[in-house]
Amino acid sequence: MGRTKVAAIWRWMLMYETNVKRNKNLRPAVFVDRDGTLINDIGYLGDPDGLSFYPGIPEALRRLQDRGYLIVVVTNQSGIGRGYFNEETAIAVNCAMLRMLRDKGVMVAAIYYCPHHPDEGCSCRKPGQLMILRALKDLDIDDSLSWIVGDMDKDIWTGINAGLRPILVETGKSEKGSIPAHVKRSASVVEAVNFILDEGIS
Ligand SMILES: [Mg+2]
Repeated sequence: MGRTKVAAIWRWMLMYETNVKRNKNLRPAVFVDRDGTLINDIGYLGDPDGLSFYPGIPEALRRLQDRGYLIVVVTNQSGIGRGYFNEETAIAVNCAMLRMLRDKGVMVAAIYYCPHHPDEGCSCRKPGQLMILRALKDLDIDDSLSWIVGDMDKDIWTGINAGLRPILVETGKSEKGSIPAHVKRSASVVEAVNFILDEGIS
């Protein structure tokens, strides 16, 4: 194949990709923390048998899903970096949670987890934004239509810095850290979902 023809095909591919991106229908999402938000935070959970949802969680997520929101879990799992359990164990816990939700009709779009120790200085550990940025790209999410729900200041600052609307849930850690006064607070994910569905766009 001649050099000119290869160049023409390459240009066409670039144009095609640009047009596809431009025409993509970006979707709204609700990013949710795992421990202390969806499930009881028993501290460095390394056993699928230790999973227990707060009341009404599957039903609340189902309502979001039915209104067109992708559900994306973003979770710091420093228990891996601290050597409390290995990555396979963390994945087993996540998969068990996905199965429990699937049995209730909830399809989580993805789980992103940070395996690092806090001292490693990674960009994925919340309040770093890397897990969110990856999900926006991987799943064609519109950040301007999306929310983050979590029980700690790390979750809230992740959302604020990534351009998501944050909601602090009063479950999980009692020590919440520094949260801006304007941030919406809800007693639980169930209440947060009610708020999102009242305020949201879809
Ligand atoms: Mg949490």
